[in-house]
Amino acid sequence: MSIFEDVIVNAKAVVGTVGKKAGEVIDISKLKLAAADLKSEINVKYQILGRVTFEEMNTGKDYTKSKQELSDQIKELKSHLDSLNDLIASSMQKTKCSSCGAYNAKGAVFCSKCGEKLVSTTEQAEHMEPDDVIDFTEDNFDDDDLL
Ligand SMILES: [Zn+2]
Repeated sequence: MSIFEDVIVNAKAVVGTVGKKAGEVIDISKLKLAAADLKSEINVKYQILGRVTFEEMNTGKDYTKSKQELSDQIKELKSHLDSLNDLIASSMQKTKCSSCGAYNAKGAVFCSKCGEKLVSTTEQAEHMEPDDVIDFTEDNFDDDDLL
């Protein structure tokens, strides 16, 4: 499927060492590529969701179940993207603002976006949970049903 699985497995395996040897172990460009991949997956789901809604409005058929499934899938993908972004940020030794979620440069004391005081990267890295399993849900929505 996507390169996401491979990348995330490798990244998760080495994430424990991130704080000590940033940039040496994780290929950040691969993580960014995986994040972009994931974003486009999410966009595809949004498009299908929009199409389902359109069909529903114009045919009077009830696609509530399909919409719920899509919505769940999008939520899951988004949470994967969040953890991936966290991983990228910690790999780059960036500090995530606990208030607004913006990523700030290493060593920043206050958030550049909202001004919140930032916690240190080291502290944050310890809170990472490398054991989180990211499973990539199959696209089981058959949009041919709509035509
Ligand atoms: Zn902030």
